[in-house]
Amino acid sequence: MKEEPELLPVEEARARTLALLPSLPAEWARLDEALGRVLAEDVLARRTLPPWDNSAMDGFAVRSTDLLPPFPVRLRVVETIYAGRTPREEVRPGTCARIMTGAPLPPGADAVVMKERTRPAPEADAVEILEAVAPRNFVRSQGEDARTGEPLLPRGTALGIPELGLLVGQGLQEVPVPRRPRVAILSTGDELCRADEAPEGRIVDTNAPTLALAVRRAGGVPSVLGIARDTLEEVSGLLAAAEGYDFVLTSAGVSVGEHDFVRAALEQRGVALDFWRVAIKPGKPLVVGRKGGTVYFGLPGNPTSSLVTFELFVRPALRRMLGHADVEPPRVTGRLSGELRKPAGLAHFVRVSASWREGELWARPLSTQTSGALRSAASATHLLHFPRSSTHLGEGAQVELLPVSWGS
Ligand code: AMP
Ligand code: MG
Repeated sequence: MKEEPELLPVEEARARTLALLPSLPAEWARLDEALGRVLAEDVLARRTLPPWDNSAMDGFAVRSTDLLPPFPVRLRVVETIYAGRTPREEVRPGTCARIMTGAPLPPGADAVVMKERTRPAPEADAVEILEAVAPRNFVRSQGEDARTGEPLLPRGTALGIPELGLLVGQGLQEVPVPRRPRVAILSTGDELCRADEAPEGRIVDTNAPTLALAVRRAGGVPSVLGIARDTLEEVSGLLAAAEGYDFVLTSAGVSVGEHDFVRAALEQRGVALDFWRVAIKPGKPLVVGRKGGTVYFGLPGNPTSSLVTFELFVRPALRRMLGHADVEPPRVTGRLSGELRKPAGLAHFVRVSASWREGELWARPLSTQTSGALRSAASATHLLHFPRSSTHLGEGAQVELLPVSWGS
């Protein structure tokens, strides 16, 4: 008799999954391939940016010591400096230069007065300044963004759009980041056929293509390896083809049915199983294990269950492999629109559609929750976490909502 393993709480199952992960070697990625990835090494600045002090406003470059009461103070305008031009004149006492945003601060000037704090003077070549300014007022200092040779972004920095903009400004074309995890995707089931086959009494394998999209969106590189029939030999054979990948995702065949061969096939191939039952619905039958540098996820077959378990376990794992430190699924607090009941024992992840009303995020459970129907994932914006021990959530209850990454 097989021993019945304990049901792991979702947080513990995720922690154990993350503990199994190997780390990936770094590669040089082009900047347009680096969004959402993480620096594997410190990056030093090659250029000082801005390269010179420049104006943060359209206005007048002045010597702040010229601006003493009584106001207005009349100054002679010696030139106009546009962005992209070089100042030709020094700003001497009693003078100023008209200056545009981004133009270099001329020698002699130490501050900028915005145009709105000035008015035309009777003479054509002068201006009246209406108030005093502090030194460095509206001056963007040389080196504010970066100084040659100094650290620009430390190892571990997640590369968002501004970070990549900083790197572009440095003239960098490639950055060191962990390579993308390679993910093999396998389907199992006698009832399945490929999308390009005539179904004839079978159903189209939708899990492999949806999981492939989810993997790509999470930053991995998916390879769909095909469908294994429900025999130990076929499942084991397809698993053999998946060796060498970083992750292997199988779907279906992980329950306790007579035709559920995934666990046995994994064991036959020498995969050390870490756990195979999690206290969640959907997704209770979920197998996670490791062999060498490959981590295996036996996901449930129901289309929505496979997406929910992807969200709770695979996506955080992919993000960790990409180098992210914080990979907990993001969550927000909202309120329940409606009522929910369940027995204690399993945490439920209820598909909801949430929208903002009067400053609060109201979550309405979708009318269909059956995990066999992809429709119950379509139009879901969040998964509502209905905790394991809780049995009732009333109208307006405060709830934890996990935004789904699979939406449009
Ligand atoms: P199983 O875990 O093998 O009992 O499968 C659970 C349910 O998911 C069954 O109704 C299967 O037909 C369905 N299913 C399994 N694999 C897939 C797949 N790749 N695409 C769509 N549905 C699937
Ligand atoms: Mg099956």
